[in-house]
Amino acid sequence: MIDAASQFVCAGCGCPAEGDALPFRCAAAKPGDDIDHVLARGSDTSRLQFPRSDEENPFLRYRSLLYSHRVAIDAGMRDEDYCALIDRLDRAVSAVDGRGFRVTPYRRRSTLSDDLGFRADGGIWVKDETGSVSGSHEGRHPMGIVIHLEVLAALGRRDPSADRLAITGSGNAALAAAVVARAAGRPLEVFIAPDAAPAAIARLREFGAHLTFCARLPLDKGGSPGDPCAQRFRAAVDGGAIPVAPDGSENGLAIEGGRTLGYELVDELARSGARLDRLFVQVGGALASACVQALAEAEKVGALARMPRIHAVQTRGAWPLARAYDKVVRRILQRLAGAPDRPTLPSDEQMRADLIHRNAGSPTVQWELAYAAHHRSEFMTPWQDEPKSVAEGLVDVETGDWLAIVRAMIQTGGYPVVVSEPYLEEANRIARQATRIDVDHTGSAGLGGVLSLRRMASFSSDEKAAVIFSGIRR
Ligand SMILES: [Zn+2]
Repeated sequence: MIDAASQFVCAGCGCPAEGDALPFRCAAAKPGDDIDHVLARGSDTSRLQFPRSDEENPFLRYRSLLYSHRVAIDAGMRDEDYCALIDRLDRAVSAVDGRGFRVTPYRRRSTLSDDLGFRADGGIWVKDETGSVSGSHEGRHPMGIVIHLEVLAALGRRDPSADRLAITGSGNAALAAAVVARAAGRPLEVFIAPDAAPAAIARLREFGAHLTFCARLPLDKGGSPGDPCAQRFRAAVDGGAIPVAPDGSENGLAIEGGRTLGYELVDELARSGARLDRLFVQVGGALASACVQALAEAEKVGALARMPRIHAVQTRGAWPLARAYDKVVRRILQRLAGAPDRPTLPSDEQMRADLIHRNAGSPTVQWELAYAAHHRSEFMTPWQDEPKSVAEGLVDVETGDWLAIVRAMIQTGGYPVVVSEPYLEEANRIARQATRIDVDHTGSAGLGGVLSLRRMASFSSDEKAAVIFSGIRR
């Protein structure tokens, strides 16, 4: 039996995941119920303690916070055997990719901070993921899943030869999944568009991934609306394949490995003693939701004094999350305006976010968040136009983990930033020049959010802000 502290619970309907098998999707989800079923770790953190160690591998350093570790220990596995399992996997990753998982650099970038007009007591801190496995943060997600699969295999609860992994796309997530799957000896099926970049196709093949090209058929030739890759992926998952992405709405475990990035931030903040005022995090896949959930958990167990304001960054090309946030916030403001003390509703975005933040624990806000969880289609709807952006990782037509991110913004006084394409271009140019990090446009999109907001007086030059350079230019 798994205790409540680590059990996965559906954030939409409250239904707990069954046993420790594989907390992927909510078992209570019914087609058309309009509930935002997303499995997330339960909110009981009473058994959690934030570890302090100098272990270089984040999966070892933060193991006591990982679900797979709790499953292993509760089933009688020794901690040293769990560590040996991770070591073995990490060495295999290193043999495939030339590097294993290590805590990535995080520090203030003085040239960048100066260029953007920050004072010495403020500035921009960069979490640099470009040197991580496969050149992006994405490897953390499949690694968390594969560790869990290895634990179940070691406990005799799952036949590893039956494991098949599945993912869509040809971006950083698929490339990282291919590395980790190869290292773990699990076959990976990638559902990919026929016009994917030849270099990405070659790299996926090099790692032994099985590619299924999914062409879009015209409607009059038997095709159906929607993304053909997503449809084939869904069919594979329904047939028993293990989804290794794209976010927590497909697989609650995808968040697990991604949390290590957030834990690293918490560690750095504790070590330096510096506060962090704002975190700009680009929205694509599970990055933002994994980070905010890790920070929130750390705050809850006392490892983080105060959450920074969370700013989810999207592109003008597609901003389904910012649109959903606007709808939730509009409802909250209407209800606050109708309250007996009738606060004056500010027009400024930061002041609006602050007003909601001050009321975050109120029944009004809690009720509205619960309403959003039970009326998904009123808030999160697929982006209609085909999204295009120079930041290719930001063009999801829907944000799977949207409500977790909206909740985090409301609870921290943050709000979404929708960045124009010229700003995304400029952010990338400045990022590469000022830091010498060869980050790609998706990776520097958080800095685009900084550029956009710095124009406003509400973001002052003595504030400390962090961005995540999530992936390398290819
Ligand atoms: Zn549910």
